[in-house]
Amino acid sequence: MLIDDYDLELFTPPCHPGEEKWSAIARLKVDISEVLPYLNATLRGAVYNQAAQALTWKKGGRNTAFHPYKIAASNLNDRTEAEQIIQGLIKTVNRTWENRAEIEPNFEQRQRPTPMALFKLLPNINCRQCGQPTCFTFALKLVANQQKLEDCPPLLTPEYLDRLTQLQELVIDAPAIG
Ligand code: SF4
Repeated sequence: MLIDDYDLELFTPPCHPGEEKWSAIARLKVDISEVLPYLNATLRGAVYNQAAQALTWKKGGRNTAFHPYKIAASNLNDRTEAEQIIQGLIKTVNRTWENRAEIEPNFEQRQRPTPMALFKLLPNINCRQCGQPTCFTFALKLVANQQKLEDCPPLLTPEYLDRLTQLQELVIDAPAIG
C-alpha cells in the first residue's frame, strides 16, 4: 500500500466564505509522484504536467488534483461527501500503484479539448436525445466528463462514423479505471 496514513483538512474556500461547497486536502506522509504517470494512463480525461509534478482530473463536476504530498478535491457538497471522495481518491492511488506492473505509464501532457473543438464534430441537429438542450451544451458536458460520446444516439449511426472516430481520439484517449 502506497498511502496508509494522511491528515485531512476540510474547509470552505476563503474566497467564498459561508458558501455551501467544500474543499478537501489530504496531506500525505509519502511522495506519490511516481504513481502520477500511471494515473495519467488510467484516469479518463486526466491532465498530467510532469514538470510541475501535478495531475488534475475532473469527474462528476468535481475538480481533483494529485501532487507529490497532497491530494485535493473541490466542489463538494458537505463534510461527509468530502471525506468519502478523499477516501475514494486514496483507494484509486493505492490500487493503481499495486497494479502498476500491468499499466504502461504515460508521461504525455494532454491538453483538454475545447468545447468548440468537440462541438464542430457533433451532429449539430439539437435533437435533445442526449438529455441536453443543444449539441453545444453536450460538448460542454463532454469536456467536463459529465457525459459520454455514447450518450449521443445520432453519433453512433453510420452517417457519423468518421466524426465519431475523430471524437474518440479527442475524448477517449485512455481507459478509465475500474
Ligand atoms: S443527442 Fe447528439 S445530436 Fe442530439 S442534441 Fe445531443 S449531442 Fe446533439
